[in-house]
Amino acid sequence: MPGRPEILFPLFAPLETLEGVGPKSARLFAALGVERPRDLLFLLPVAGVDRRRVASVREVVPPATVTVEVTVGAHRPPARRGGPWRVTVRDAAAEFQLVFFHARGDLLQRQLPTGQRRLVSGKLELFDGIGQIVHPDHILPPEEARDLPAFEPVYPLTAGLTQRQVARAAALALARAPELPEWIDPALKAREGWPDWRAALAAAHAPGGPQALGPADPARRRLAYDELFAHQVTLALARGAIRRARGVATRGTGELQAKVLASLPFRPTGAQRRALAEIAADMAGATRMNRLLQGDVGSGKTLVALLALLIAVESGGQGAMMAPTEILARQHFDAIAPLAAAAGVRVELLTGRDKAAERAGKLAALASGETGIAVGTHALFQRDVAFADLRLAVIDEQHRFGVAQRMELAAKGRGTDVLVMTATPIPRSLALAQYGDMDISVLDEKPPGRKPVETRLISARRIDEVVAHLARAVAEGRRAYWVCPLVEESAAVDLTAAEARFAALRAALGEGVVGLVHGQLPPAEKDAAMARFVAGETRVLVATTVIEVGVNVPDATIMVIERAEHFGLAQLHQLRGRVGRGAAASSCLLLYAPPLGEAAARRLTLLRDTEDGFRIAEEDLAMRGAGDLIGTAQSGLPRFRIADLERQAGLMAIAQSDARALMTADPGLAGPRGAAVRTLLWLTEQDRAIRLLGVG
Ligand code: ADP
Ligand code: MG
Repeated sequence: MPGRPEILFPLFAPLETLEGVGPKSARLFAALGVERPRDLLFLLPVAGVDRRRVASVREVVPPATVTVEVTVGAHRPPARRGGPWRVTVRDAAAEFQLVFFHARGDLLQRQLPTGQRRLVSGKLELFDGIGQIVHPDHILPPEEARDLPAFEPVYPLTAGLTQRQVARAAALALARAPELPEWIDPALKAREGWPDWRAALAAAHAPGGPQALGPADPARRRLAYDELFAHQVTLALARGAIRRARGVATRGTGELQAKVLASLPFRPTGAQRRALAEIAADMAGATRMNRLLQGDVGSGKTLVALLALLIAVESGGQGAMMAPTEILARQHFDAIAPLAAAAGVRVELLTGRDKAAERAGKLAALASGETGIAVGTHALFQRDVAFADLRLAVIDEQHRFGVAQRMELAAKGRGTDVLVMTATPIPRSLALAQYGDMDISVLDEKPPGRKPVETRLISARRIDEVVAHLARAVAEGRRAYWVCPLVEESAAVDLTAAEARFAALRAALGEGVVGLVHGQLPPAEKDAAMARFVAGETRVLVATTVIEVGVNVPDATIMVIERAEHFGLAQLHQLRGRVGRGAAASSCLLLYAPPLGEAAARRLTLLRDTEDGFRIAEEDLAMRGAGDLIGTAQSGLPRFRIADLERQAGLMAIAQSDARALMTADPGLAGPRGAAVRTLLWLTEQDRAIRLLGVG
């Protein structure tokens, strides 16, 4: 793909090329994320002030912002040091005062010459029964009055920049914006009543009233759509690249799956069957599968993954399942191995800790095809690992890998079908943003018979009662997690808190009953501590948040989370998901340090009232906004400048289907609309898309 189109050059010139922007203000603009004129186009007003003219201040009820033409009367300098400088003015029907503190009289007299007309605008207040405006926002000679719009946009600012500077710079950038060829599908544009790109920018920077600032305004919607569409074109290109890498048509016989299902004491849920059917259809197809399996904790993803792996084995190939950590890999192995054994399939666990001889044996069995399923960590993808015929790679990612890493892993799989599992429910608009290059299966139904987890909010002042309760529960043979607070960013501080809690609980409950895991433990010790808890040797496990979100100990029925107000909703939901996995009733105690702030109270109450991960995720999005929801950098979720994923959620789905349709019709973006889309990709700096086009 040739370089950036010339038509965009003025928008990508240094910011200083705008009149009135020097090196100093350029630095201030950078703090707003504005480095080039292009960025100013997308810096939209966040509010507006009504500056409609009135004939007299009599028409408004103070306090209120008022804009009125006046005749300037007498100046009254301060009677004493530090007192106000007053200027009496008269509009069509009333007299009032303009008030200035710490003013320079000579400047004021030049700005407000007695006897002349001026347009003034500011907040009118009553003081001792007299109307006054302290430090008016605007004082303009009548011939400049047209410069002040009836609805004045308010831009986001940073310390050192004024509204005037930003508005001026935005206007200059806007003047540079060319008419661009249309990249939006004409039918969609007509249906939505969207303006052209340039007209949309002009309208968004000159809102006619408050409604024009909202997410439903056509100009804003169009610009938001541009942003989402550019992102979805990138994902569609990535998806196309993966799918073009040909796949083997992998068809199962159903034989091994039937054996496993027969060995289970339960039947798959409808959601599990639907997801498996979608996966099987992809695997049987000629293109490569790139699918996300999304399901809340406990929704039964492991079984779906296993049955998919068995399809690979049934067709004469192999499957691999990769987890981000040693503990999770081992756990998947422990869950899968006995079931696979029922089908007579050999499963091996491959981690970074295998002894050399042991590893050599496992690698040989993989290379010969004797091992049907390999479970492991990143060790699976090391260079010396060779499969006889790897058909399916399942990646349990839990938000630890971004889009880029997934692509890399997929590339290492050499044409292998890819299934990514995530346990973090995310709202649809976010899922489309983050995983739009994939097809998505959702496990939206939990296995029957799950007991709800009773969740309670408890003040930390009552921690002694909680410990006493825990002592009784342990005496009855129950098991509990105790998660320690994320006090600060520092792991060392967290550790101290966890160690102190560990010591206190040991003192209260008895030496051998309490275990401790944290991030600084060597992996072997961490595993050993986990293993003692799994085996029931220790009954209470004190953990920092490094506790793996996937750990599965069905006998653990109590989850205590200390300083729960410091945790995010998604994290609390994940932690709570560690209990309620067995037959017994479970509880989750959210300890907080009073007084509880309003936002924290809302979060914790929501969590108490629902266990629906998707609902929690939607509310989380509403409370925090998309950027915050998942660490943006690590999630591969882009930062959108204009689009509001919460309030414009529907646009993302339209953008995805339009991008995919375009990619089917014109995969190389070679047609006239394709050329326009290329301009959009350059405009929005979709580097990845540009690279993909260059290669493809
Ligand atoms: P996830 O990985 O989605 O959190 P798991 O796959 O670990 O969930 O499943 C949680 C538990 O539910 C496991 O003990 C599993 O054996 C059980 N399970 C899975 N599917 C079903 C089902 N259809 N009916 C009953 N129990 C199930
Ligand atoms: Mg699981």
